Amino acid sequence: MNTDLLAQFFEFSNDLLCLANTEGFFVKVNPAFIKTLGFSEEELLKRKFLDFIHEEDVELTLKEVEKLSQGATTIGFENRYQKKDGTFVWLQWNSTPDPASGLLFAIARDVTEQKKMFRLLEQTQNIANIGAWELDPKTGKTEWTEQIFKIYGIQPGQSTDVEIGINQYHAEDQSIIVKAVNDAIEKKESFDVKLRFLKSNGEEIWVRSKGDPVLAADGSVQVIRGIFQDIDAEERMRMALATEENILQNLIKHTPAAVAMLDLEMKYLAHSDRWLVDYDLGEAKILGKSHYEVFPDVLDRWKDDHQRVLAGEVLKKDRDHWIREDGTEVYIAWELRPWFDSHGKIAGLIMLTQVITQLIETELGLQKTVEDLQKSNLDLEQFAYVASHDLREPLRMIGNFSELLEMKHSGDLNDQGQDYLGRIIKSAERLQLLVDSLLEFSRVGRKESEVTAFQLPDLLGEIQEQLHLYLKENNAVIEIQSDVTTVKAVRGQLGMVIYNLLHNGIKFNESDTPTVQLKCQQDENFLYFQVKDNGIGVELGKEQKIFGAFQRLHKRNVYPGSGVGLALCKKIVERHAGTISCSPQKQGSIFEFRIKKDPTL
Ligand code: ADP
Repeated sequence: MNTDLLAQFFEFSNDLLCLANTEGFFVKVNPAFIKTLGFSEEELLKRKFLDFIHEEDVELTLKEVEKLSQGATTIGFENRYQKKDGTFVWLQWNSTPDPASGLLFAIARDVTEQKKMFRLLEQTQNIANIGAWELDPKTGKTEWTEQIFKIYGIQPGQSTDVEIGINQYHAEDQSIIVKAVNDAIEKKESFDVKLRFLKSNGEEIWVRSKGDPVLAADGSVQVIRGIFQDIDAEERMRMALATEENILQNLIKHTPAAVAMLDLEMKYLAHSDRWLVDYDLGEAKILGKSHYEVFPDVLDRWKDDHQRVLAGEVLKKDRDHWIREDGTEVYIAWELRPWFDSHGKIAGLIMLTQVITQLIETELGLQKTVEDLQKSNLDLEQFAYVASHDLREPLRMIGNFSELLEMKHSGDLNDQGQDYLGRIIKSAERLQLLVDSLLEFSRVGRKESEVTAFQLPDLLGEIQEQLHLYLKENNAVIEIQSDVTTVKAVRGQLGMVIYNLLHNGIKFNESDTPTVQLKCQQDENFLYFQVKDNGIGVELGKEQKIFGAFQRLHKRNVYPGSGVGLALCKKIVERHAGTISCSPQKQGSIFEFRIKKDPTL
């Protein structure tokens, strides 16, 4: 070859070219060499080339030089050279000795960047626990990167084949990888499988194996190239998560309440069976669907509520009314709360609802019944009032005329006639008493009565006054114990209750000195009265019955009365938001009642 051309090639080559002698000195270096290392030609030729080599690479380099001196050539040998600035470059050498001149001809390439990239790749593979492999389908031989050896737990550098590769898969999964590899070779299909794998130490892990056939120009499979990755940690976490999700889904599904879990876009993530039942959704598949698609008639104000909850609020309503598109009325109680992802961010909302339509309907029905009852009670009271009021006049006439008949014409009547007349008069008197009591009873609920404030001692004094004669006739005493002063009640009615109870205590009494004790007390909310007598007492078991109208335990001819007194007391006490009861004692009885302070009638 033309010497000039050779000189030019030497001069302009991008590769590092040099000649060295067996004493270990460069004889000639090209400009690329000078440029790469930063030393001048003079500096490079002056020192032995071993001086420029990284101390860790000296030994290997000496071995390589030794081989060259024996006539061998070097291909792809790599070592590090120090540059003028102190840093190192990786050079890859192809050298050949010239026996004639005793010189070494060498070409080097700066592979520092490739080396860096390679190291990076290696690190990445280490971090990702991932290795690359290549299978030659003709020989069955495989090439593995170091990471695969590590996962297999085999010493790197050993020769491997497809059989070694497959052997360590879990027995139950081997058929899968065999089929995948066969299909890649025969059908040119790629594969990507997750299988169980046994490391050489017996540990079972999950791995991912992915392979792609690489085709030759004639369309045949040249090699299969793929990756192999230890995905044990991720896979176990994924499985644990899946189990957890499964548990959660099941829990929600079988919750005996209507619950639904939605994402930020109001799409269903989970719901209980009861949700479908309560909203007549049958077997509908609503997971993944928007709430607004499932319920197109959702109220606008509810949509606002959803947004508020997605912004962090918890909302609740005990009774809400929903008129559905088809006109059905639904009452529901509901609670909405946001749920949070693992970063603590709102990820959607949870709806808990209870359809209470039936409950409300029953309640409304009951309310109506109560109203009807109140009305019919009022009607009855009105009737009793009108009847008793209007009966009084004709009754009085019967009484008056019977008495006139007795006074003026009793001589005209024989014994039987007089007996009949006597009975008519007595019956008229009794009827008068009954009608009067009834009138009094029906008056209690009427408007005339109103709550006023008054002094209880005054009222008690008046009652004692009214009973004065009756006490005298019966040699009876009343003992009062009270420190209550001002009270608020319907004065006349409270008077009636106290009067009746005191009167009964003396009336139903056979002792020589009938004694009735009255105690009055109060607390923050109620006034308490107790009337205790030493009379004949109330038969056990009858203590409720005696509060019914016209209920009497004793014969009229022994103890006169209409049987309305206690019923009247009960009615008055209840109008004052209170209660009344009787407790039979060994001797005598105790009647107790309480009324609300300042009641609203
Ligand atoms: P009346 O006194 O007109 O009979 P009440 O309604 O006041 O009607 O009483 C109903 C019945 O309760 C009485 O008939 C009587 O049998 C019984 N009773 C009421 N108070 C007493 C009492 N202090 N001791 C015993 N029995 C009583």
